Amino acid sequence: MITSSDISARVKEVQKRIAEAAVRSKRQPSEITILAVTKTQPVEVLRAAHEAGLRDFGENRVQEALEKIGALPTDIRWHLIGQLQTNKINKILHQFVLVHSVDSLQLAEALSARLGNGNQDILLEVNSSGEPSKAGVSPMEAIETAEKIERLPGLKMRGLMTVGPLTEDPGKQREAFKILKGLFDSARTKSWVPKNFSILSMGMSGDFETAIEEGSTLVRVGTAVFGPRA
Ligand SMILES: *Cc1c(COP(=O)(O)O)cnc(C)c1O
Repeated sequence: MITSSDISARVKEVQKRIAEAAVRSKRQPSEITILAVTKTQPVEVLRAAHEAGLRDFGENRVQEALEKIGALPTDIRWHLIGQLQTNKINKILHQFVLVHSVDSLQLAEALSARLGNGNQDILLEVNSSGEPSKAGVSPMEAIETAEKIERLPGLKMRGLMTVGPLTEDPGKQREAFKILKGLFDSARTKSWVPKNFSILSMGMSGDFETAIEEGSTLVRVGTAVFGPRA
């Protein structure tokens, strides 16, 4: 298994690559948050990532996340990044600082209906590559859907999220990220968009540098920190 000194070294390496990509694009490294994607990783590995200074952790599956939340320090900010089924909504209430994977108006309505008097920060997931296997609303309908979601009680739209295309071609990756950044900028000119609509969640281990060059403010990094998943 990967040791805590391995993880600490890998975190430093990722931080260095983030800083370099930020500087290349005339941005401040501090504008970019690292979200450690911890799916399939055991609790001890997460503890090592916490010791290495990471505080934002992202999980894909609700059940797996809840088990880890109970076992780890309470200063961790948990993010839900995987597909959320409506029958799991009750379990996620008050557990996650941010749900990245709101991928339809229907899901947003179901979430809003169950929140009661509570609030939930969310991102709208956009299918920026158009790959049929990918979740998210199409770029064409993104702004309109975002406005409808923002009007639902309890949901706080904080920005947009995308999963880049399944390719190692940086040109294709860049194209998808440019689409999301364009939507983000255009949303921010609308009167209904809240002031803190400021999160652009894009970039994973294989494409986070390109994503940062295109304006990402949060990169979701799994294997670059933890090595290959079991
Ligand atoms: C697994 C996953 C990641 C992290 O992927 P890596 O390639 O391991 O960095 C990021 N975002 C989402 C939505 C994921 O499911």
